Amino acid sequence: MKRILNYIDGNFCEPISGSWIDNIAPATGKVYSQIPDSGAADVENAYQAAAKAFPGWSTTSYTERSRIMSRLADLIGENLEALALAESIDNGKPVSLAKTVDIPRAESNIRFYATAIMHFSSEAHIMENAAVNYTNRKPIGVVGCISPWNLPLYLFTWKIAPALASGNCVVAKPSEVTPMTAFMLSELCTKAGLPKGVFNIVHGLGTKAGDAIISHPEIKAISFTGGTATGAYIASKAAPMFKKLSLELGGKNPNIIFDDCDFDRMLTTTVHSSFANQGQICLCGSRIFVQRGIYDRFKAAFVEKVSRMVPGHPQNPDTKFGALVSKPHMEKVLEYIELAKSEGGTVLCGGTKFDPADDELKGGYYVLPTVIEGLHYACRTNQEEIFGPVVTITPFDTDEEVLVMANSVKYGLSATVWTTDLNRAHKFSGQLETGIVWVNCWLVRDLRTPFGGVKASGVGREGGFEALHFFTEPQNVCIQLH
Ligand code: NDP
Repeated sequence: MKRILNYIDGNFCEPISGSWIDNIAPATGKVYSQIPDSGAADVENAYQAAAKAFPGWSTTSYTERSRIMSRLADLIGENLEALALAESIDNGKPVSLAKTVDIPRAESNIRFYATAIMHFSSEAHIMENAAVNYTNRKPIGVVGCISPWNLPLYLFTWKIAPALASGNCVVAKPSEVTPMTAFMLSELCTKAGLPKGVFNIVHGLGTKAGDAIISHPEIKAISFTGGTATGAYIASKAAPMFKKLSLELGGKNPNIIFDDCDFDRMLTTTVHSSFANQGQICLCGSRIFVQRGIYDRFKAAFVEKVSRMVPGHPQNPDTKFGALVSKPHMEKVLEYIELAKSEGGTVLCGGTKFDPADDELKGGYYVLPTVIEGLHYACRTNQEEIFGPVVTITPFDTDEEVLVMANSVKYGLSATVWTTDLNRAHKFSGQLETGIVWVNCWLVRDLRTPFGGVKASGVGREGGFEALHFFTEPQNVCIQLH
């Protein structure tokens, strides 16, 4: 059986404990590889390697860092097919999605920061005839990056790229549920010529390996993407140690559809924004609010389209809807569907586990895409993050009414608004309590823009120069002129 290894000081290593964790393919429910069950001693080795590499990497010229990272981006592109297949097997997502979104975006993340660092400037402030101030933006040192399972390589690279570009050395942990593409990335880092120890990956459980990273006294910054409860725990551990923290957490995103929208465009995108990656994207719209004038038309057309989405073998190139990531996650999603029914919801389509005809897939984790109506906006189903293929639809009459419903959750990650009224689009977007609003589109990303949520969806912003600011410490130097 294939064994994934830690990547420490440029070497591939077994865990010090000698114990391994089974890695399950969600499409079949079968173990197909093993990962190191790493702990504090492995993290310490990774930290020591990173600390040793830091003086060299932090003083390596921007041009050279950029060259190595651009080579890494090229290698991701050259290995697109293999990485996409690995991500599909590890995560259960359709290979077509991995091939067109996850892996190309991972390549873009690395390339973006390989070039952004060449344009990163620090500030100077002149006090007339008195003094000159300039700001040194210095890399922090050794930083920790922890990422979730839903977009494994995409989110992993989104963190490590700005950290490395700005001269830090990294100790990283991908989700234990989806470790394969991070492992493949470590092989590509060696090929790209990344110096030993600059980037280290420790595989294992969040509560063990992850905890050792966030608790390490010398790891000075943590960039974390994952659930809100985990984020709160990390903040409670890291804040008293004065670590810098960037937390990208959960969401319960509203999709608001006004009756003046371009109906066909809205419908196609709404199917996608509800069920892409089986609804396991933090930015999926899980609460759909539809203005009453088009509610019945929307309901009929949406349910008709969603009913035709049948889960298929994730590695089949034609599959559009795959497996959920794990058995516990599938069970959580099914429990939420039961909760929705007990809260008075009517299941319009889906609502159950799906049993594939293919024998190979019998043990896999499949849930039909599910649409529910008839729930109050404040009920648990409409307030808690399900993170699966379950959406609710709710009619509304006025802008004021839907604004209250949209903003009623503790989360504030993203929102989608469908309208052809430009004034309404501007006014309404500005009133939404979310870090990003998409108007008449979804998941369109410009890597230069700040990304992140408000309220319980996190603190800090990733993307663009925001991430380079996060991964550097400003030091002001003031020189008197006379
Ligand atoms: P988790 O919070 O369970 O885990 C995220 C990562 O943290 C994993 O690598 C996990 O390891 C690790 N971890 C868990 N416990 C600890 C700990 N005590 N100390 C340090 N690390 C720990 O999230 P999921 O992996 O389940 O991801 C889904 C969540 O991520 C959803 O809530 C989703 O909304 C959110 N998300 C947010 C995004 C955003 O940009 N705001 C983007 C994508 C997802 P392990 O896997 O071993 O448990």
